[in-house]
Amino acid sequence: MTDLTRRTAMVGAVSAAAIAPLVGATRASAASPPVGKQNGGWYRYKVGDAEVTVVTDGARSFPIPDGFIANAGKDDINKALEAAHQPKDKITLTFTPIVVNSGGKLYLIDTGYGEKAYTENKGIVGQLRNNLQAAGINPDSIDAVIISHYHGDHVDGLVLADGSPTFKNAEVLVPAVEHKFWMDDGEMSRAPKGRMEGLFKNNRRVFSGDILKRVRTYDWDKEVAPGITAIATPGHTLGHTSFVVSSGSSKVFVQSDVTNLPALFVRNPGWHANFDQVPDMAETTRRKTYDMLVAEKLMVQAFHYPFPSLAYVEKAGSGYRESLVPWNPTI
Ligand SMILES: [Zn+2]
Repeated sequence: MTDLTRRTAMVGAVSAAAIAPLVGATRASAASPPVGKQNGGWYRYKVGDAEVTVVTDGARSFPIPDGFIANAGKDDINKALEAAHQPKDKITLTFTPIVVNSGGKLYLIDTGYGEKAYTENKGIVGQLRNNLQAAGINPDSIDAVIISHYHGDHVDGLVLADGSPTFKNAEVLVPAVEHKFWMDDGEMSRAPKGRMEGLFKNNRRVFSGDILKRVRTYDWDKEVAPGITAIATPGHTLGHTSFVVSSGSSKVFVQSDVTNLPALFVRNPGWHANFDQVPDMAETTRRKTYDMLVAEKLMVQAFHYPFPSLAYVEKAGSGYRESLVPWNPTI
């Protein structure tokens, strides 16, 4: 302490001329303006010989809507948010498509919100195309887009703002059960007003013209593409699909929306969110899938987990807990 005081006194004794350059340097760094924007959001890892690039489409925050969860109130939701060190009274959802390079071909699983939303929301969502470019992937080089289910955050990015295909050279591979439901005029006429009616309208907009011409349906329990197998996980929607990406002895489970925000729905798998089309079926699927992930110690890639949305899960109380996979600086 005495030494420190003496040195401070000695610095004070140095002439103003001697310390002038130092003062100048300090001023220069203080003048650096904050950058004010995030870097490109992508992360890469390998599954055997396959290479997975996780690409964020952005994130959206909104106040907890009334009736957001049928069997949990705002107090319960806030408690769960607080326990996960997240702000109260609002929900923040992230959106995370992936690109799988399997056998030299590029398969994009789900699309994010697309160009129209990017413009309308000032870039908070719809970032996929920019982040693909940042990851060195030209959207024109995508061979096929594989869709998990027909919700806007998963399909809207199929088209640009003018309605033309975003991925100019890609086939569009869709779950047969899902496609049949949303393209059925009878189902559309029976759809409740509001959210379901809006979804039908949106899906008929996206799945028209050039996109519809590129659609090829796939069945559950079969390979959609080499090393990518479709797994039935219905409930969130009737045709909701997950995937196992495998190569050699390695595999990852791509869960799509088996759970949404983990702080709420991994911890409380019995909570019924208003975006689950058949809530009881969604809960059954959720518990069955998570019990399997725990038993097999299988890594899960989850569309609505925090970026890069990759975790292992374990049992915790009456629910589960995700353990995020640490960033790997090499591949
Ligand atoms: Zn979703």
